[in-house]
Amino acid sequence: MQKCTERLNCSGKNYSPYSQDSALKFEECNDCGLIWRSEDSMEITKLYEQDYFDSKSYNKRRKHKVKKSGWIIDLANLHHKNISKLLEIGCSIGYTLEAAKNRGIKHLGIDISNFAIDFCTNLGLNAKNISLEDLKNSKSKFDLIYMQHVLEHFTNPFEVISNCNELLNENGLVVIMVPNSEYAKAKKQKANHRFYSIEGVGPEHFVYFNYSNLKTSLEGSGFKVVQQDYPILTGKYYNMNFFLNRIFRRATSIVHSNQELLIIAQKI
Ligand SMILES: [Zn+2]
Repeated sequence: MQKCTERLNCSGKNYSPYSQDSALKFEECNDCGLIWRSEDSMEITKLYEQDYFDSKSYNKRRKHKVKKSGWIIDLANLHHKNISKLLEIGCSIGYTLEAAKNRGIKHLGIDISNFAIDFCTNLGLNAKNISLEDLKNSKSKFDLIYMQHVLEHFTNPFEVISNCNELLNENGLVVIMVPNSEYAKAKKQKANHRFYSIEGVGPEHFVYFNYSNLKTSLEGSGFKVVQQDYPILTGKYYNMNFFLNRIFRRATSIVHSNQELLIIAQKI
């Protein structure tokens, strides 16, 4: 049984096969449009140690990635008076933590990869291999929780969203970036696209959202969406690069060619 029945009021009966690449299958909930990993291919998973990071050349263009995370933190800042504590779930090798540190924001990153944690620690960043449950038990609270391409790696994304809500201070924000299930190329190619293929990122992902069902998922868990997609007009913080980059993103989103969704939601 899929989890959208409890959170999105789906019937739980209305699924159709979406893609199949040998044993890796995805199916679509026709009620909410979420694309889930099929129950019978849940055991296909990926390890997140050094090979994983090597294979993706994770540390390439580090400066640019730290900058991009910084832009997003600044964007979130427009919706919050005082972001002083940031949690990144799935902090990888610490681009966002570094951007937070540069802004004088207290940061903590968590990740299931010891390789990633060691990498961050060696850079003087605060990162730990602990679970959301551990954090809840320690009564930690944050003003901003950042999840960049992380939510789709969880078998139960709704539980993660609820945990975020619990871990946030009043008016706290969650920043979510996930792949876009409406991305036209992936929609057309299905199992031949890296989203759903064994050779691509399919084995790492359990769920694909679009703006509509991501928004509903957040609204059903004590959040209101304050920013959907990248803004066209930018605040005083941004430089020309950022501005041009955003205009390009915005233009691609109109024709469903944007691969990534961005949502910022506030705890209510
Ligand atoms: Zn559904």
